[in-house]
Amino acid sequence: MMDILFASNNSHKVDEVRAKLAPRFNVRSLRDMVGDVDIPETGSTLKENAAIKARYLFELTGMDCFADDTGLEITALNGEPGVYSARYAGEGSSFDDNMDKVLRNLAGHTDRSARFRTVICLIYQGKEYFFDGEVNGELLTERVGGKGFGYDPVFRPEGFHETFAQMSLDQKNTISHRGIAVQRLVDFLVSC
Ligand code: IMP
Repeated sequence: MMDILFASNNSHKVDEVRAKLAPRFNVRSLRDMVGDVDIPETGSTLKENAAIKARYLFELTGMDCFADDTGLEITALNGEPGVYSARYAGEGSSFDDNMDKVLRNLAGHTDRSARFRTVICLIYQGKEYFFDGEVNGELLTERVGGKGFGYDPVFRPEGFHETFAQMSLDQKNTISHRGIAVQRLVDFLVSC
């Protein structure tokens, strides 16, 4: 079994990828391998941020590793909050603060279309690879559902009646931005 390091301490994300890569790869979390590090996300695109995190870890450990970055891109707001999705309402803002800001900024707009996009940067045997995934949908005017995290209660994916916050994790993972990007990463790694 080969070790591969995932630049995340989010146990949901780590478990999801670990299950998909076993038994060929043993996915190690950031906390497992390097402890608590806060890698600065100074890029201006999702791709840059994913690459910054993966390169940082490769320099530190020399291990095969990958990192992801995700953003919500709202058409009527010219792609905002995008790379700033985690801190849209300011440093340290909560999911609720960020959702409130999105709903405020969208008030009066008829176009409520948006998409989630994830980019993964993999450094494998010293070479860089990128994988992405996206899901289109629309933003509701109020929160619906209690599952998930982030903007899930206000995002309804195209072709569905439920928001992400009304779906089981399995259902969300099969159609989500991150699920698609992770599947592309997995397909690549298992074919190596
Ligand atoms: P990260 O790059 O995965 O840390 O995501 C950055 C931010 O985007 C998070 O803090 C959330 O606000 C938002 N986000 C990422 N993935 C999702 C998702 O699947 N549903 C809802 N919000 C998400």
